[in-house]
Amino acid sequence: MQKDDNACPSCQRRQLAFQYALTNPEFHTARCRDCGFIAMHPYPSDSFLERHYKERGLYNSEADESAYVRAVADRAKLIEGLLDRAGKRGATGKAVDFGAGAGIGVAAQMSLGFTSLGIETNPHAQSVGRRLFEAEIVDLSLDEMPGELALFTVFEVLEHIKYPREFLAAVCTHMETSGTVLGTVPNYNGLARYIRGKHSIALAWPEHINQFTRATLRRTLEEAGLDVVYIGFPPPYGVVFTFGLRAWILKHLKPAAVAKTTASVITWVKKYIAYPLPNLFAEKTGFLGHGLVFVATKKTQA
Ligand SMILES: [Zn+2]
Repeated sequence: MQKDDNACPSCQRRQLAFQYALTNPEFHTARCRDCGFIAMHPYPSDSFLERHYKERGLYNSEADESAYVRAVADRAKLIEGLLDRAGKRGATGKAVDFGAGAGIGVAAQMSLGFTSLGIETNPHAQSVGRRLFEAEIVDLSLDEMPGELALFTVFEVLEHIKYPREFLAAVCTHMETSGTVLGTVPNYNGLARYIRGKHSIALAWPEHINQFTRATLRRTLEEAGLDVVYIGFPPPYGVVFTFGLRAWILKHLKPAAVAKTTASVITWVKKYIAYPLPNLFAEKTGFLGHGLVFVATKKTQA
């Protein structure tokens, strides 16, 4: 059925409450009074989004190789922890990372023993991924994606995709029974939105067309045919506040060794003293954490 881009993307009714005028004031963030889904209003057209993503550079494509190695290890650890929550530690089989970028997610899946494929529309991604990780990254439509997947990962993707429930429902048709779907999205109720409003990452125009809370993410996953195992804020997706103190110290404090030590003390204080309490609050309430991390499994047919 043809969707109405001027209505709520989830329930298609038009009872919308505007929350923010975005950096392009022709667009707003709107909350649906009927179902609670929050999204950009109006939804940008398909042709606009397609043009935007073809022209945009690839995230992190300039990063050096050691940064990629660390990013892959971090991503693998996150995936492993989430598989564990779903009772799937040590699982293998076919896997896809959607919106693969330069292949960090694909490389992480492979390091855990999956047979992995990255899907990415950006033309630079394939060569970068192949060069760095020998990862297979291709531009496929969802229909062309392989079937019987044991694992499907979507990191920072659902906020970019029009009609995310329909997208996930289509993904489910490619999953094996009780296959795992996991990923991340920005948290609409993150600290940054309260402080920076339309300039926060969650509300970035024109890219972030869906804004998720823990409740709306849960409903989106469930209505797509998934059983939600967990939605929360494991590190580094919890509360983030920064005053630029460490950057200032590293630049201005002399000698460099003292600056480095001071900066690492601040890091330690943040990690073990400043963050645990707000992170516990985020985990309990869904508020303040900057990214929602989820793991779900394909519903078994009743
Ligand atoms: Zn709605």
